[in-house]
Amino acid sequence: MEKKRLKQFQERLTAKRHALAGVVISTEDYEREAGADTSQDPADIASNAYTKDLLFSQSVNERTILKLVEEALQRLDGGEYGICANCEEPIQDKRLEAVPWARHCITCQDLQERGLLEDDE
Ligand SMILES: [Zn+2]
Repeated sequence: MEKKRLKQFQERLTAKRHALAGVVISTEDYEREAGADTSQDPADIASNAYTKDLLFSQSVNERTILKLVEEALQRLDGGEYGICANCEEPIQDKRLEAVPWARHCITCQDLQERGLLEDDE
């Protein structure tokens, strides 16, 4: 891959990492605050529990993506960026444009989603 293009992906990934790290941290702050407040009526507690569940499931998602983004940045450093982790073929340009932290090419991603990929962590 061209250096210029790699740099573009690196910038996008760095920005994404920054944004995700902010979300993960603010969710942790929210959980701390919600846990510390004991003077609420049951309706508030219920709605907070709901918000907390929602935030939690979002933050699980975001943590997963954050991890993938960090791995992609490591691959960029190691000169392995854009190579499928399974078949070692170049990942399609369009796919990287859409998902710069993708570990797999479209074919292998499809296998992974169907649970047919062996090296899935
Ligand atoms: Zn592949």
